[in-house]
Amino acid sequence: MNNKYKILVIEDESNIRSFVKTILDTNGYQVLTAGSLSQGILVYSSHYPDLVLLDLGLPDEDGLSFIRKIRQTDSTPILVLSARTQERDKVLALDTGANDYITKPFGTAELLARVRAALRNRHFENAQGSDAAGRYTVHDLEIDYERRLVRVKDQEVRLTQTEYNIVALLARHAGRVLTYASIIQAVWGSSDAGSIKKLQVNMANIRKKLGSRPGEKNYIINELGVGYRMQDEA
Ligand code: CA
Repeated sequence: MNNKYKILVIEDESNIRSFVKTILDTNGYQVLTAGSLSQGILVYSSHYPDLVLLDLGLPDEDGLSFIRKIRQTDSTPILVLSARTQERDKVLALDTGANDYITKPFGTAELLARVRAALRNRHFENAQGSDAAGRYTVHDLEIDYERRLVRVKDQEVRLTQTEYNIVALLARHAGRVLTYASIIQAVWGSSDAGSIKKLQVNMANIRKKLGSRPGEKNYIINELGVGYRMQDEA
């Protein structure tokens, strides 16, 4: 019986494609590959993979059109493979409906962690990381959703309502990057010229209150130019 997760890799660079395929193969995933967007759509619609790894720069069409096409009907997680310098492309891909991105060049551990997080999110979008009592814990951080409380090392952290809303939102999507625009939309409902600044100020206060220090492991990572990500693995 074949109960492996099926992952479709759409990437035109054959060395990256075979690197990714080898890693996923050896870690128990079933891998399908495509070297162009049209081939990717063909494979997608005949195999219905559980997850798609998508390069944006494809020879026939932009990867974004794949995301648009799939999102008309499916919520299958899509991870974008993108070069470091393409912040705008990452934001655009996320706001178009990609679940996350991986920056090239990436290592084995990072690829596997992103894949696991995306597959988990697929099943537990609203309950990810939280237990029956409505709590979320990662490392020393605990969020009690029912009482709207955050604790670090069992000490209560005093957050404003807005700060709490931001932390709770990131924790609900732990392991996955949320764009600045999507956080602003979720927390304030609308955006204006000062929104990014407001978010940055709140985030600086949150990090201070959570006890983040430069060089140490942080609960919340700033993905520069893109958004914020809460860590979900030790
Ligand atoms: Ca490419």
